[in-house]
Amino acid sequence: MMRFRFPIVIIDEDFRSENASGLGIRALAEAIEKEGFEVLGVTSYGNLSQFAQQQSRASAFILSIDDEEFGAGSKEEVDAALKNLRAFVGEIRFKNAEIPIYLYGETRTSEHIPNDVLKELHGFIHMFEDTPEFVARHIIREARSYLDSLAPPFFRALVHYAQDGSYSWHCPGHSGGVAFLKSPIGQMFHQFFGENMLRADVCNAVEELGQLLDHTGPVAASERNAARIFNADHCFFVTNGTSTSNKMVWHHTVAPGDVVVVDRNCHKSNLHAIIMTGAVPVFLTPTRNHYGIIGPIPQSEFSREAIEKKIAANPLLQGVDPKKVKPRILTLTQSTYDGVLYNTETIKSMLDGYIDTLHFDEAWLPHAAFHPYYNGMHAMGKGKAKARESLVFSTQSTHKLLAGLSQASQILVQDSQNRRLDRHLFNEAYLMHTSTSPQYAIIASCDVAAAMMEAPGGTALVEESIAEALDFRRAMRKVEKEFGKDWWFKVWGPEKLAAAGIGERDDWIIKGDAKWHGFGKLAEGFNMLDPIKSTVVTPGLDLNGKFAKTGIPASIVTKYLAEHGVVVEKTGLYSFFIMFTIGITKGRWNTLLTALQQFKDDYDKNQPMWRILPEFCAQHPRYEGMGLRDLCQSIHEMYAKGDIARLTTDMYLSDLQPAMKPSDAYARIAHRETDRVEIDLLEGRVTTSLLTPYPPGIPLLIPGERFNKKIVDYLRFAREFNRKFPGFDTDVHGLVQEVDEAGNATYFVDCVRQT
Ligand SMILES: *Cc1c(COP(=O)(O)O)cnc(C)c1O
Repeated sequence: MMRFRFPIVIIDEDFRSENASGLGIRALAEAIEKEGFEVLGVTSYGNLSQFAQQQSRASAFILSIDDEEFGAGSKEEVDAALKNLRAFVGEIRFKNAEIPIYLYGETRTSEHIPNDVLKELHGFIHMFEDTPEFVARHIIREARSYLDSLAPPFFRALVHYAQDGSYSWHCPGHSGGVAFLKSPIGQMFHQFFGENMLRADVCNAVEELGQLLDHTGPVAASERNAARIFNADHCFFVTNGTSTSNKMVWHHTVAPGDVVVVDRNCHKSNLHAIIMTGAVPVFLTPTRNHYGIIGPIPQSEFSREAIEKKIAANPLLQGVDPKKVKPRILTLTQSTYDGVLYNTETIKSMLDGYIDTLHFDEAWLPHAAFHPYYNGMHAMGKGKAKARESLVFSTQSTHKLLAGLSQASQILVQDSQNRRLDRHLFNEAYLMHTSTSPQYAIIASCDVAAAMMEAPGGTALVEESIAEALDFRRAMRKVEKEFGKDWWFKVWGPEKLAAAGIGERDDWIIKGDAKWHGFGKLAEGFNMLDPIKSTVVTPGLDLNGKFAKTGIPASIVTKYLAEHGVVVEKTGLYSFFIMFTIGITKGRWNTLLTALQQFKDDYDKNQPMWRILPEFCAQHPRYEGMGLRDLCQSIHEMYAKGDIARLTTDMYLSDLQPAMKPSDAYARIAHRETDRVEIDLLEGRVTTSLLTPYPPGIPLLIPGERFNKKIVDYLRFAREFNRKFPGFDTDVHGLVQEVDEAGNATYFVDCVRQT
């Protein structure tokens, strides 16, 4: 196997000393190095938890217990040293159950060490009884076997293949990167991405790696490994994102004319699936607050009776007996963008047997399986009973919250008590949507991302994310307290926050009648807020949709942050959103916090825009002379005048009636039977495209639905706003913009042709 760099770490107070103890340990270090292993010698544990981070870079630890501090005899000293040792070993084992740990002693022996520490060790080295060479070989054997155990099946096979150096005649045409070397720009590409990435970019003719499309060989072994790790009965890796995973799940289960039950706040890939399958959707409508944060669908909406009522009311389903309809699929966004989760066990018990397939779109939730915090709040909980009839699917974007390359995604399936997934039939849908040339680096990242989450490491990683997220919330509150009556940003979430540590899961269960969320009365225990999602609220708008005299629209804050090197995930009217993935560090959120402080300072001083947002002003010189506070105020006043918070809430909650099946409306595009209709003429027309405002990126209208007045009012507002504040544009996907010679923009939407 390839040589990876994982030094053996020695921690010994005497590592650099000229005494006998120092000579002994250095002799061991030299013997290890002679065998070709790197050694990293340090003289103290230092900051315990930081040092334990080293467990991911080390192949073994050797901890000396000969040190002075271990006590020349006094009981207190020995106890203190033991406590240190125990804490250190505990910290490593919290994250890593396998890495070899040795104790090293000359005068002391294992008798001095209590059992709870001994049981975590791979051995006790008593130096003067064996030669350093002998001891070194023993440790190296263990370190090697540890390293060999790390790689999951596909990654292991890919590394082996890429190192093997065999010549191939198959595609891709760059032949392990060689093609790039034949041109200067190709050379640059090669140097940037590196040899390994290109050597590992192989085609599916390579037998020894297995086939993603048939799920064979090492790929299949990796999928089985991931299924086990994520508590699923089946796992399918997908290299084209969860957008594709969703379409696969749908195409396995839904055929033309089928009734499907869909979260109105769903990702557009599910809406594309409605169009592609020719389904008739009935929508479940989520609550919203006036910040524009999307809340949960009330529990009552999930009852069979409520769904039958919707079927009865659907103009496309007139003449069918709602009691006889069995919807094919339920698709629910499990973890909304803002972090609202559902009690999946409740939903399963309400719909089991009524709906064939329960599909949880867990694009933002692959971490939930690894921490008890999320117990019952994700699709496939450990030890949870299977549904009796319905199959449960979860689609997850490995790349969004775990360590996956972009587009890394997976489909997890839980069989029911009475039905197993027919993998062959499922694969028909899988093949319909997957490229026949999958990217192997993405498969490897699916494999590695899953292996990283293996207990106990995965739990430790998620716990760290939660801890960082809570530290951030506490830090924001501390700043607020210091400012006293002066303004500051708030992080949206429950009032109660643990004083230290990660607190309790119960702190994040959304209480039915709590005021902070603004979603009205909710069923008890049905929802949770994922603490790793943080929505930061800017001043100016309250939860009732009332505008204050002054305000700070979030889009200005996030532009400011971007020019200061902090890019946020999503921006709303008076809120923006950040996420504590397992890649987030203290440095990152502290930088955000200081940048927000600078913003406040610049705002309070009304600093000129040219000074604080030079890049933005270079693109939009009209703002150069303005002060930051003045700009905030003029945008704020325009929002207030348009009563935009209430308008968007009303618009999203308005009763939207389908005039035709989404697939029929879409067919008009294929048949070129559309009109490009100007905004002012839209009311009453039927759209052929998805219309999606950003923020929040939730489709407002889907093909086949009619424009109502509220939506037209909103589009007029967006048009007016974009004219007044270029650079802060409300982006509406689905709007067609045409610019005339004088530079004036007109906006259109493509609609079903009127004859
Ligand atoms: C991002 C997202 C998807 C699509 O995932 P990709 O991996 O980007 O294709 C699907 N569903 C939801 C809820 C998402 O947020």
